Amino acid sequence: MLVPSEFQYQHTDLSGQKIPLPVGKVVCVGRNYLMHIKELNNEVPDAPLLFIKPSTSLLYLSNNIDIPEGQGECHNELELAVLIAKPLKCASQNQVVDAIWGYGLALDLTLRDVQAQLKKQGHPWERAKGFDGSCPVSPFVEKSAIDNHDKLNFELKVNGQQRQVGNSGDMIFSINALLSEISQTFTLLPGDIVLTGTPEGVAALRQNDILDISFQHLFQLSTKVN
Ligand code: ZN
Repeated sequence: MLVPSEFQYQHTDLSGQKIPLPVGKVVCVGRNYLMHIKELNNEVPDAPLLFIKPSTSLLYLSNNIDIPEGQGECHNELELAVLIAKPLKCASQNQVVDAIWGYGLALDLTLRDVQAQLKKQGHPWERAKGFDGSCPVSPFVEKSAIDNHDKLNFELKVNGQQRQVGNSGDMIFSINALLSEISQTFTLLPGDIVLTGTPEGVAALRQNDILDISFQHLFQLSTKVN
């Protein structure tokens, strides 16, 4: 059976070349930046809050964004994304860096009204965060081009206005700590992506919004909400 075109996502590098890794799951971290926890009146977690987006959530960040209709607000959450190149199972923090292919940015698109309802009912969040197209991702920058993954800056402007500024140094759980912790429960396989949590500045996206997204001096790209 043919796979519908919207699911033909492949990981790509900055030159647009396909990265020879399969497309897998996306493991996401909630509540990893203090100011974002405060803006949504959540509690600081003792351990990383984890959830998974299916591979059908992935698409290219440079494509226009489709927001599901009739489900309330859809929020931007711009996050540092880590592409995994080697299996990680019950890994220590010292073992994780060797398994990283590189870094990119992703939007953890979130149906905030749906999520609020699910939270109230004590239900899982997948309907709010795992829908088709809920994880637009950028090309990935190879690990060798990054000096220190605990000092990475990224930024989102919406219609020319700054909305989110993040630095991986502000994470509550560092990248190494997250990958180690995740691998205790979910084995990370080559081609899996880890989203590391959003900094503050989440808000509703609207039709025709223009999003400008930048990752240090490494890349800048634009996309639009349909
Ligand atoms: Zn998120």
